[in-house]
Amino acid sequence: MVRPMYRTRSWRRVVRRTPGGDVVVHFEKRKPGPARCARCGRPLNGVPRLRPSRLRKLPKTAKRPERPYGGVLCSSCLAELIFEEVAKGIL
Ligand SMILES: [Zn+2]
Repeated sequence: MVRPMYRTRSWRRVVRRTPGGDVVVHFEKRKPGPARCARCGRPLNGVPRLRPSRLRKLPKTAKRPERPYGGVLCSSCLAELIFEEVAKGIL
């Protein structure tokens, strides 16, 4: 029997073959949901769905789009905001 903490489905079961040829079940935490736009709530493109420990291993440029508000706003919301600012004559 596995440890009681692993009996819940909040742990993902992953079947792995060890170098010795045994098939074992590994337990991993599930992936988080996608990052979402702060304005419209749509899932953001270019932001990986990984747990923080895996995210730390990625370069910064792989974690969010490299543009203003990348990883916070989606591209259409950013475009709308920029057009508004241009219309107001701020930019
Ligand atoms: Zn948006």
